Amino acid sequence: MSKTVLVINSGSSSIKYALLDPDSGESLASGIVEKIGNPVGTITHKHDGEKFVVEEPVPDHGHGLKEVLRLFEEKGPSLHEANVVAVGHRVVQGGRFFSGPALIDDSVVQTISDLIPLGPLHNPAHLKGINVARELLSEVPHVAVFDTAFFQDLPEEAARYALNREVADKYSIRRYGAHGTSHQFVSQEIAKLTGRDDLKQIVLHLGNGASVSAVVNGHAVDTSMGLTPLEGLMMGSRTGDIDPAAVFHLARVGGMDIEQIDQLFNRESGFKGLVGDNDMREVWKKCEAGDQNAIDAIDIYIHRLLKYVGAYTAVMGGLDALTFTAGIGENDSLVRQRLLDRLAYMGIVYDPKINEIIRDPHPRKISTDDSSVEVFVYPTNEELAIARQAVTFA
Ligand code: ADP
Repeated sequence: MSKTVLVINSGSSSIKYALLDPDSGESLASGIVEKIGNPVGTITHKHDGEKFVVEEPVPDHGHGLKEVLRLFEEKGPSLHEANVVAVGHRVVQGGRFFSGPALIDDSVVQTISDLIPLGPLHNPAHLKGINVARELLSEVPHVAVFDTAFFQDLPEEAARYALNREVADKYSIRRYGAHGTSHQFVSQEIAKLTGRDDLKQIVLHLGNGASVSAVVNGHAVDTSMGLTPLEGLMMGSRTGDIDPAAVFHLARVGGMDIEQIDQLFNRESGFKGLVGDNDMREVWKKCEAGDQNAIDAIDIYIHRLLKYVGAYTAVMGGLDALTFTAGIGENDSLVRQRLLDRLAYMGIVYDPKINEIIRDPHPRKISTDDSSVEVFVYPTNEELAIARQAVTFA
């Protein structure tokens, strides 16, 4: 009988879940509980091509998860019959403590809790999900899979900021990275696809949040997100790299406080702040209509990508494979085209027709055989990556 894993991604007001077969990769069901704590919440459960939506008050995570378990039994697939052997929990911040998945016990819960200062938006919400799931599904192992784990072993030169050592160490300020589960999954899949594990790879995870990683022989050697997911590429609503002195300036001259600056950098910048919209499809529409702010924003986005690809190629001393993944990476052929055209100097050659195929959920190579670097579009699958890691504890 095949085994399944329930994957849970618990946010502050939502719980995303998926039931997967880690061997075949098949998703048997998935769903989301939204607006927890609001007067009316929504639970959307998908199974067998059907979608069930329940609208009702969901006062807390415990209630939300109980409803999800009820939907599994009512609408299918029954968790009892599905042979659930583990529950995998996504955890954003693992600090310096976790370089791989961890079997959740009280001490792991305590460590995730101790890391709240480094992951204030995410870790408290993960803990809510972990605590109720451990109670409700107590008969199977629960496993935490950390977004930071793949970057735990970054070389010191990439992980340490040139910040006063005493202060940095006292406050645990270093580069932890994020999206690690996706970067690890995609780079491993590319190694399998090419039949080579001695690759110098760059993975471009371009979603609403966006990050780049440099991976040599399966090990991450650099990544663009740092202490928090704010650093690096320009994103949907985040600045990415910016001179930290902008903070001093906004405080001194603009009279803004830290909360306002945090909000500005994380939620009101990037495409949202430059164009007024954080969805690339809308940004492109505005470009077509001649909106100069949108045209400039795309230029800034591509410029930043170009800099990271150049920098990481230099860091690795070469590049074998470049892979696009996540919402923009997988779907936006124009972004790929704009970047790849600028990389022609490296000897990168791609097939415009294969690049232009949209809505293709399958991995594909878009470079031509004479390209100096193999270029891929590879759909990320963080749920499957979590399920595969969790099942190793079953
Ligand atoms: P996240 O997980 O960070 O929220 P996703 O990886 O789901 O983000 O990516 C979401 C983004 O992908 C959207 O904001 C949108 O900009 C972009 N996107 C999705 N589909 C397309 C498309 N067909 N063309 C261009 N961009 C797209």
